[in-house]
Amino acid sequence: MNIETTAHEGRCTCRFVRYRMSSGPLFVHCCHCRWCQRETGASFALNALIEADRVQLCAGEVEVIDTPSSSGKGQRIWRCPKCRIAVWSNYAGSGDAVRFIRVGTLDEPDRLPPDIHIYTESKQPWVVLPPGVPAVPGYYKASEFWPKESLERRAALAAKSLPHQRQ
Ligand SMILES: [Zn+2]
Ligand SMILES: [Zn+2]
Repeated sequence: MNIETTAHEGRCTCRFVRYRMSSGPLFVHCCHCRWCQRETGASFALNALIEADRVQLCAGEVEVIDTPSSSGKGQRIWRCPKCRIAVWSNYAGSGDAVRFIRVGTLDEPDRLPPDIHIYTESKQPWVVLPPGVPAVPGYYKASEFWPKESLERRAALAAKSLPHQRQ
């Protein structure tokens, strides 16, 4: 597939920050954990995982807020310094090499539905999951769910001697 046709653009609410994903993501998580529920104020978080070097800041700047996470290692949430909307985050497990893009900040969020539902053990009961999309009670192994191309991209990241750990 032509890489340009899989690009995605996004922004914060006040339009100060604009960014671009130069390709499709590695994988898209719909996370139903209580932490994500609190951070979003909603029922789940929708994150598109992508290599940091495939995300360009096209306008504005972002500031990082260190935020507690369930692992205890913390999450770095990158926000617009003006409207404070979160546009992406990094988790300790994958370091700065992988960004978790907030799908709701994309111009066309409908293009990136979840590839997997995780932490469904704390899913709010009224949320009905669609058939045919993987769902796991907690976390999962990428090797069991990611498509081959994404696993190859992950291996390429590791080869650049970036932190190579599971989320
Ligand atoms: Zn903003
Ligand atoms: Zn979560």
